[in-house]
Amino acid sequence: MLAMTDVHKSFGTLQVLRGISMEVPSGRTTVLIGPSGSGKTTLLRCINLLEMPTSGKVRIENKEVVFGGDAPPRSGDILAFRKQTGMVFQAYHLFPHMTALENIMEGPVTVLGRSRKEARERAEELLAKVGLSDKRDSYPRQLSGGQQQRVGIARAMAGDPAVLLFDEPTSALDPELVGEVLGVVRQLAKEGMTMVIVTHEMNFAREVADEVIFMDGGMVVEKGTPQEVFDRASQERTVRFLQRIR
Ligand code: ADP
Repeated sequence: MLAMTDVHKSFGTLQVLRGISMEVPSGRTTVLIGPSGSGKTTLLRCINLLEMPTSGKVRIENKEVVFGGDAPPRSGDILAFRKQTGMVFQAYHLFPHMTALENIMEGPVTVLGRSRKEARERAEELLAKVGLSDKRDSYPRQLSGGQQQRVGIARAMAGDPAVLLFDEPTSALDPELVGEVLGVVRQLAKEGMTMVIVTHEMNFAREVADEVIFMDGGMVVEKGTPQEVFDRASQERTVRFLQRIR
Protein backbone atom coordinates (compact mmCIF):
# COMPACT_ATOMS: atom_id res chain seq x y z
CA MET A 1 0.00 0.00 0.00
CA LEU A 2 0.95 3.63 -0.57
CA ALA A 3 0.63 6.22 2.19
CA MET A 4 1.49 9.91 2.29
CA THR A 5 1.37 11.64 5.66
CA ASP A 6 1.21 15.42 6.03
CA VAL A 7 3.33 16.08 2.94
CA HIS A 8 4.34 19.68 2.35
CA LYS A 9 6.24 20.98 -0.67
CA SER A 10 7.46 24.50 -1.32
CA PHE A 11 9.41 25.92 -4.23
CA GLY A 12 11.19 28.87 -2.61
CA THR A 13 8.43 30.86 -0.96
CA LEU A 14 5.67 29.23 -3.03
CA GLN A 15 3.81 26.61 -0.98
CA VAL A 16 2.50 24.09 -3.48
CA LEU A 17 1.47 21.21 -1.18
CA ARG A 18 0.07 22.17 2.22
CA GLY A 19 -0.21 19.00 4.22
CA ILE A 20 -1.39 16.17 1.99
CA SER A 21 -2.32 12.83 3.53
CA MET A 22 -3.64 9.96 1.45
CA GLU A 23 -3.66 6.18 1.35
CA VAL A 24 -3.99 3.88 -1.63
CA PRO A 25 -4.54 0.24 -0.65
CA SER A 26 -2.87 -2.42 -2.79
CA GLY A 27 -4.74 -3.15 -5.97
CA ARG A 28 -6.74 0.08 -5.86
CA THR A 29 -6.86 3.10 -8.15
CA THR A 30 -6.96 6.68 -6.91
CA VAL A 31 -7.69 9.51 -9.35
CA LEU A 32 -6.52 13.05 -8.59
CA ILE A 33 -8.60 15.87 -10.03
CA GLY A 34 -8.52 19.62 -9.53
CA PRO A 35 -7.86 22.92 -11.26
CA SER A 36 -4.62 23.64 -13.06
CA GLY A 37 -1.96 24.70 -10.58
CA SER A 38 -3.59 22.94 -7.62
CA GLY A 39 -0.51 20.72 -7.11
CA LYS A 40 -1.56 17.41 -8.70
CA THR A 41 1.63 16.87 -10.70
CA THR A 42 3.78 17.96 -7.78
CA LEU A 43 2.00 15.44 -5.57
CA LEU A 44 2.66 12.64 -8.09
CA ARG A 45 6.32 13.67 -8.27
CA CYS A 46 6.51 13.62 -4.47
CA ILE A 47 5.24 10.02 -4.53
CA ASN A 48 8.13 8.80 -6.68
CA LEU A 49 10.55 11.34 -5.20
CA LEU A 50 11.26 13.09 -8.48
CA GLU A 51 10.56 16.02 -6.16
CA MET A 52 11.63 15.87 -2.54
CA PRO A 53 8.87 16.88 -0.13
CA THR A 54 9.83 19.73 2.20
CA SER A 55 8.34 17.75 5.08
CA GLY A 56 6.18 14.72 5.67
CA LYS A 57 6.35 10.95 5.21
CA VAL A 58 6.00 8.82 2.11
CA ARG A 59 5.55 5.09 2.41
CA ILE A 60 5.19 2.27 -0.13
CA GLU A 61 4.80 -1.19 1.34
CA ASN A 62 7.51 -1.52 3.98
CA LYS A 63 9.74 1.34 2.78
CA GLU A 64 9.24 4.75 4.34
CA VAL A 65 11.12 7.97 3.70
CA VAL A 66 10.78 10.88 6.14
CA PHE A 67 11.41 14.51 5.16
CA GLY A 68 11.91 17.57 7.32
CA GLY A 69 13.45 15.63 10.19
CA ASP A 70 16.90 16.05 11.71
CA ALA A 71 18.73 14.41 8.81
CA PRO A 72 17.80 14.32 5.13
CA PRO A 73 16.96 10.86 3.75
CA ARG A 74 19.92 8.89 2.41
CA SER A 75 20.28 8.75 -1.36
CA GLY A 76 20.35 4.94 -1.24
CA ASP A 77 16.98 4.93 0.50
CA ILE A 78 15.59 7.34 -2.09
CA LEU A 79 16.78 5.16 -4.98
CA ALA A 80 15.38 2.01 -3.39
CA PHE A 81 12.08 3.80 -2.81
CA ARG A 82 11.91 5.07 -6.38
CA LYS A 83 12.32 1.55 -7.80
CA GLN A 84 8.94 0.69 -6.31
CA THR A 85 7.24 3.16 -8.65
CA GLY A 86 6.69 3.49 -12.39
CA MET A 87 5.66 6.76 -14.03
CA VAL A 88 3.72 7.42 -17.22
CA PHE A 89 4.29 10.98 -18.45
CA GLN A 90 2.03 13.31 -20.36
CA ALA A 91 4.48 13.60 -23.27
CA TYR A 92 5.66 9.93 -23.33
CA HIS A 93 9.41 10.73 -23.01
CA LEU A 94 10.48 7.67 -25.03
CA PHE A 95 14.11 7.49 -26.19
CA PRO A 96 13.88 8.40 -29.91
CA HIS A 97 16.91 6.33 -30.97
CA MET A 98 15.60 3.10 -29.38
CA THR A 99 12.93 0.72 -30.62
CA ALA A 100 9.77 0.05 -28.61
CA LEU A 101 11.36 -3.12 -27.21
CA GLU A 102 14.63 -1.37 -26.32
CA ASN A 103 12.76 1.47 -24.61
CA ILE A 104 11.06 -1.04 -22.32
CA MET A 105 14.26 -3.02 -21.63
CA GLU A 106 16.43 0.01 -20.86
CA GLY A 107 15.44 0.65 -17.22
CA PRO A 108 15.56 -2.98 -16.05
CA VAL A 109 19.01 -3.49 -17.65
CA THR A 110 20.69 -0.22 -16.63
CA VAL A 111 18.95 0.58 -13.33
CA LEU A 112 17.92 -2.81 -11.98
CA GLY A 113 20.87 -4.78 -13.40
CA ARG A 114 18.71 -7.45 -15.01
CA SER A 115 20.16 -9.60 -17.79
CA ARG A 116 19.28 -8.56 -21.34
CA LYS A 117 17.59 -11.92 -21.88
CA GLU A 118 15.36 -11.55 -18.82
CA ALA A 119 14.59 -7.91 -19.65
CA ARG A 120 13.72 -8.81 -23.25
CA GLU A 121 11.35 -11.57 -22.21
CA ARG A 122 9.55 -9.27 -19.80
CA ALA A 123 9.44 -6.46 -22.41
CA GLU A 124 7.87 -8.84 -24.92
CA GLU A 125 5.21 -9.85 -22.39
CA LEU A 126 4.46 -6.20 -21.69
CA LEU A 127 4.25 -5.31 -25.39
CA ALA A 128 1.70 -8.11 -25.76
CA LYS A 129 -0.23 -6.76 -22.77
CA VAL A 130 -0.52 -3.29 -24.35
CA GLY A 131 -1.36 -4.83 -27.74
CA LEU A 132 1.82 -3.83 -29.56
CA SER A 133 3.74 -7.07 -30.17
CA ASP A 134 3.89 -6.25 -33.87
CA LYS A 135 5.58 -2.89 -33.14
CA ARG A 136 8.48 -4.23 -31.09
CA ASP A 137 11.10 -3.09 -33.62
CA SER A 138 9.50 0.26 -34.46
CA TYR A 139 11.04 3.55 -33.38
CA PRO A 140 8.88 6.13 -31.56
CA ARG A 141 8.64 8.35 -34.68
CA GLN A 142 7.04 5.41 -36.50
CA LEU A 143 4.30 5.08 -33.89
CA SER A 144 1.10 7.08 -33.32
CA GLY A 145 0.77 9.07 -30.10
CA GLY A 146 -1.53 6.41 -28.67
CA GLN A 147 0.96 3.66 -29.50
CA GLN A 148 3.83 5.68 -28.01
CA GLN A 149 1.89 6.13 -24.82
CA ARG A 150 1.11 2.40 -24.65
CA VAL A 151 4.87 1.78 -24.93
CA GLY A 152 5.23 4.38 -22.15
CA ILE A 153 2.90 2.32 -19.96
CA ALA A 154 4.79 -0.90 -20.73
CA ARG A 155 8.06 0.84 -19.90
CA ALA A 156 6.68 2.12 -16.59
CA MET A 157 5.74 -1.46 -15.69
CA ALA A 158 9.03 -3.02 -16.77
CA GLY A 159 10.59 -2.86 -13.32
CA ASP A 160 7.52 -4.54 -11.78
CA PRO A 161 6.70 -1.52 -9.60
CA ALA A 162 4.33 -1.69 -6.65
CA VAL A 163 2.64 1.53 -7.76
CA LEU A 164 2.04 3.02 -11.22
CA LEU A 165 1.71 6.80 -11.49
CA PHE A 166 0.05 8.52 -14.46
CA ASP A 167 0.40 12.25 -15.14
CA GLU A 168 -2.40 13.19 -17.53
CA PRO A 169 -1.57 10.25 -19.79
CA THR A 170 -4.02 11.24 -22.54
CA SER A 171 -3.81 15.01 -22.59
CA ALA A 172 -1.27 15.15 -25.45
CA LEU A 173 -3.32 12.79 -27.64
CA ASP A 174 -5.71 13.46 -30.47
CA PRO A 175 -9.23 12.61 -29.27
CA GLU A 176 -9.51 9.48 -31.42
CA LEU A 177 -6.39 8.01 -29.75
CA VAL A 178 -7.48 8.55 -26.15
CA GLY A 179 -9.62 5.42 -26.01
CA GLU A 180 -6.84 2.92 -26.73
CA VAL A 181 -4.70 4.32 -23.89
CA LEU A 182 -7.60 4.41 -21.42
CA GLY A 183 -8.42 0.84 -22.45
CA VAL A 184 -4.98 -0.31 -21.30
CA VAL A 185 -5.32 1.55 -17.98
CA ARG A 186 -8.80 0.09 -17.47
CA GLN A 187 -7.41 -3.42 -18.00
CA LEU A 188 -4.61 -2.78 -15.47
CA ALA A 189 -7.19 -1.63 -12.92
CA LYS A 190 -9.13 -4.87 -13.43
CA GLU A 191 -5.96 -6.88 -12.94
CA GLY A 192 -5.39 -5.20 -9.58
CA MET A 193 -2.52 -2.84 -10.35
CA THR A 194 -2.12 -0.12 -7.70
CA MET A 195 -2.37 3.22 -9.49
CA VAL A 196 -2.53 6.97 -8.92
CA ILE A 197 -3.82 8.84 -11.96
CA VAL A 198 -4.02 12.56 -12.67
CA THR A 199 -6.59 13.05 -15.41
CA HIS A 200 -9.11 15.48 -16.84
CA GLU A 201 -11.15 12.62 -18.32
CA MET A 202 -13.97 12.69 -15.80
CA ASN A 203 -16.01 9.87 -17.30
CA PHE A 204 -12.94 7.68 -17.20
CA ALA A 205 -12.21 8.74 -13.61
CA ARG A 206 -15.72 7.76 -12.61
CA GLU A 207 -15.34 4.36 -14.19
CA VAL A 208 -11.85 3.40 -13.07
CA ALA A 209 -11.37 5.08 -9.67
CA ASP A 210 -11.88 3.37 -6.35
CA GLU A 211 -11.30 6.77 -4.79
CA VAL A 212 -11.37 10.28 -6.25
CA ILE A 213 -9.40 13.07 -4.58
CA PHE A 214 -10.26 16.68 -5.41
CA MET A 215 -7.35 19.04 -4.77
CA ASP A 216 -7.32 22.81 -4.71
CA GLY A 217 -4.64 25.17 -3.48
CA GLY A 218 -2.30 22.35 -2.51
CA MET A 219 -4.79 20.68 -0.21
CA VAL A 220 -7.19 17.75 -0.36
CA VAL A 221 -10.58 19.47 -0.39
CA GLU A 222 -12.71 16.38 -0.81
CA LYS A 223 -12.29 12.66 -1.32
CA GLY A 224 -14.56 9.68 -1.69
CA THR A 225 -15.95 7.18 -4.13
CA PRO A 226 -16.66 8.52 -7.65
CA GLN A 227 -20.36 8.67 -6.73
CA GLU A 228 -19.65 10.65 -3.58
CA VAL A 229 -17.41 13.19 -5.31
CA PHE A 230 -19.11 13.50 -8.70
CA ASP A 231 -22.76 13.21 -7.63
CA ARG A 232 -22.86 14.34 -4.02
CA ALA A 233 -19.93 16.73 -3.55
CA SER A 234 -20.21 18.45 -0.19
CA GLN A 235 -17.67 21.22 -0.71
CA GLU A 236 -18.50 24.37 -2.64
CA ARG A 237 -15.10 24.37 -4.39
CA THR A 238 -15.64 20.84 -5.69
CA VAL A 239 -19.10 21.68 -6.99
CA ARG A 240 -17.82 24.78 -8.79
CA PHE A 241 -14.92 22.87 -10.36
CA LEU A 242 -17.19 20.09 -11.61
CA GLN A 243 -19.69 22.60 -13.04
CA ARG A 244 -16.89 24.37 -14.90
CA ILE A 245 -15.54 21.28 -16.62
CA ARG A 246 -18.87 19.68 -17.50
P1 ADP B 1 -1.25 20.87 -11.38
O1 ADP B 1 -0.60 19.57 -11.76
O2 ADP B 1 -2.40 20.71 -10.47
O3 ADP B 1 -1.56 21.74 -12.57
P2 ADP B 1 1.41 21.57 -10.47
O4 ADP B 1 1.79 20.61 -9.41
O5 ADP B 1 1.97 21.36 -11.84
O6 ADP B 1 -0.17 21.69 -10.52
O7 ADP B 1 1.83 23.03 -10.03
C1 ADP B 1 1.44 23.62 -8.79
C2 ADP B 1 2.16 24.92 -8.60
O8 ADP B 1 3.54 24.67 -8.39
C3 ADP B 1 2.10 25.87 -9.79
O9 ADP B 1 1.95 27.17 -9.30
C4 ADP B 1 3.44 25.68 -10.45
O10 ADP B 1 3.80 26.85 -11.14
C5 ADP B 1 4.34 25.43 -9.27
N1 ADP B 1 5.53 24.63 -9.60
C6 ADP B 1 5.53 23.33 -10.03
N2 ADP B 1 6.77 22.89 -10.22
C7 ADP B 1 7.60 23.91 -9.90
C8 ADP B 1 9.03 24.08 -9.88
N3 ADP B 1 9.86 23.08 -10.23
N4 ADP B 1 9.52 25.27 -9.48
C9 ADP B 1 8.69 26.27 -9.11
N5 ADP B 1 7.34 26.19 -9.11
C10 ADP B 1 6.79 25.02 -9.50
